[in-house]
Amino acid sequence: MNIHEYQAKETFNAYGVGIQRGIVADTPEKALEAAQKLNADTGTSWYVIKAQIHAGGRGKGGGVKLAKSLDDVKTISSQIIGMQLVTPQTGPEGKKVHQVLVAEDVYYPGESEPKEFYVSILLDRQSGRNAIIASTEGGMDIEEVAEKTPEKIITEIIDPKIGLRDFQVRKLAFALGLEGKAFKEMVSFIKNLYKAYEGIDASLVEVNPALKTSDNRIIAVDGKVNIDDNALYRQPKIEEMRDEREEDPFEVEARASHLNYVKLEGNVGCMVNGAGLAMATMDMIKLSGGDPANFLDVGGGANAKTVEAGFRLILKDPNVKAILINIFGGIVRCDRVANGVVEAYKNIGDIQVPIIVRLQGTNAEEGAKIIDESGLKVYSAISLKEAAERVKQVLA
Ligand code: GDP
Ligand code: MN
Repeated sequence: MNIHEYQAKETFNAYGVGIQRGIVADTPEKALEAAQKLNADTGTSWYVIKAQIHAGGRGKGGGVKLAKSLDDVKTISSQIIGMQLVTPQTGPEGKKVHQVLVAEDVYYPGESEPKEFYVSILLDRQSGRNAIIASTEGGMDIEEVAEKTPEKIITEIIDPKIGLRDFQVRKLAFALGLEGKAFKEMVSFIKNLYKAYEGIDASLVEVNPALKTSDNRIIAVDGKVNIDDNALYRQPKIEEMRDEREEDPFEVEARASHLNYVKLEGNVGCMVNGAGLAMATMDMIKLSGGDPANFLDVGGGANAKTVEAGFRLILKDPNVKAILINIFGGIVRCDRVANGVVEAYKNIGDIQVPIIVRLQGTNAEEGAKIIDESGLKVYSAISLKEAAERVKQVLA
């Protein structure tokens, strides 16, 4: 699950991470009030107006603008709120902006030049450990930095038995070329960010840029967070931050029915019980010349209701040309599932795409019989090979 920049910053700040202060607003009037409040609290008279969408690269797309007066705040926020913001990360259709973050300007002049850094913490799949990544090339596209100037990316891997060590953080701050107050600030910035990362069960926290202000404080100007969905049950505060307007409508509906669903680009809808079987099924669809339209795991206790919810979801996808149901009857019996499929089929009515049902396990034959005798346009298959053949036939 992802959250907005303003939520990420509030979360970081609760762990002691310094941030650029801001207030979220969903109308130009509220943006103005937010700016007035920031002015009273911080003395700032310049503000940045930042579109809140679940995508980066907003600056490049015109979603981050500097306002040098309260009038500017109102004008700019009325331009940004409601706009369809296209950034390198949104795809060509862009994303609708529902709210802006009105933040204090933090690039003010002073004893030293403000300087942007890159800091992130993530679960590194290769080492199977948490990694802290930092760079002097803040504010830039980090993938590009990694490709063109990999020597400018510094990585520290954390040993899970020991946790983050002080020397590792000092090493990072030193490699970023910091000294004095800014060095100490960066050390506590990274330590607190690491606490936040662990505390909220994140798989990624990214601050780009982390800014060294002209008075040598280190603060988060941007914030990106990915939370491990499997940990949400113990992260109620994060779960409350969910903004369904930012999520795929199919996935939102799937969650409401407790289905494990990921939308894909192909033409064969699939409904499977168990994640491993679902992966194997998708491979099989590929091998038989199709392309999976989705990943859908209905879970161990699939019943008529879950089967129906899954069916409805798959059928809403206009790309779907065939549906493959692949259920292993372990806990659930195949005849039960078959009845569920037939019932769901009748309830939904007028299904145009062919459905192939492969039932294996307890009472598989009874299940196949129920499907065959139902009189519906449902093909039964018992072996995986038969099912693959059927998919090939119906796609031909
Ligand atoms: P992103 O483009 O979606 O990554 O959004 P960011 O939050 O990183 O903001 C984009 C850019 O806006 C930053 O890299 C800064 O250069 C600029 N920016 C952000 N805050 C301020 C600010 O307070 N003052 C000024 N002058 N620029 C800012
Ligand atoms: Mn950024």
